[in-house]
Amino acid sequence: MVFQAVNDIHYFVAYARTAQSVHQIDQAFVFRHVLCLFTPLLQTSRNPPRASNMNFCSHCGAPVRVEVPSGDNRPRHVCPGCGTIHYHNPKMVVGCIPEWEDKILLCRRAIEPKYGLWTLPAGFMENGETTAEGAARETLEETGARVEILNLYSMISLPDINQVYLVFRAKLLHLDFVPGEESLEAALFSEADIPWDDLAFRTIHRTLMHYYADRKTGQYPMHMGEIFHKPRPPQS
Ligand SMILES: [Zn+2]
Repeated sequence: MVFQAVNDIHYFVAYARTAQSVHQIDQAFVFRHVLCLFTPLLQTSRNPPRASNMNFCSHCGAPVRVEVPSGDNRPRHVCPGCGTIHYHNPKMVVGCIPEWEDKILLCRRAIEPKYGLWTLPAGFMENGETTAEGAARETLEETGARVEILNLYSMISLPDINQVYLVFRAKLLHLDFVPGEESLEAALFSEADIPWDDLAFRTIHRTLMHYYADRKTGQYPMHMGEIFHKPRPPQS
């Protein structure tokens, strides 16, 4: 019942935004007020989190609805005009630990989020590339450094923000690196100098904790884990 009401509100809002005639504009006015009344319901619904907001079908331009398609088990954006079901799936963030002797290369972010904090070179994977190619590309873009990717070192799921981090170990191939557009600076750090309190992301902090623990043994097995940003509901 609640889910159907939420569906209807989403549909009404999308409709209101595309209203053209005077008659429709009157309806749009009403629908906007309905939205205000039901906003708390939208925010506290127990429906699964929506992967992203979507108002219109990218195939035909019609307003989409949020509903559970036949044979599925979770809400999707569905176009009543052309029947397309729009699936939204997690994004991959790929990066690496560029190694040079006993040091690693970090960069300081020149963009939000986490402006001014340090991180490993990493970013969103692009279409048409492998995870390793993406990690090397991000490293070149953010630090000006070319690397040879060695092995996958950590894989961390972030289900509350729909991301998966993949971090590789990599060999830094030269020292004339320069910060890219998205970095304030790039620098080599020994373990004693790692700015632990100024790391941008929990994924990077955890990966580097594993890395320096493993370095004591000289073995670098892959580490798989997850980080939650919200309390998990009890599992039935
Ligand atoms: Zn459509």
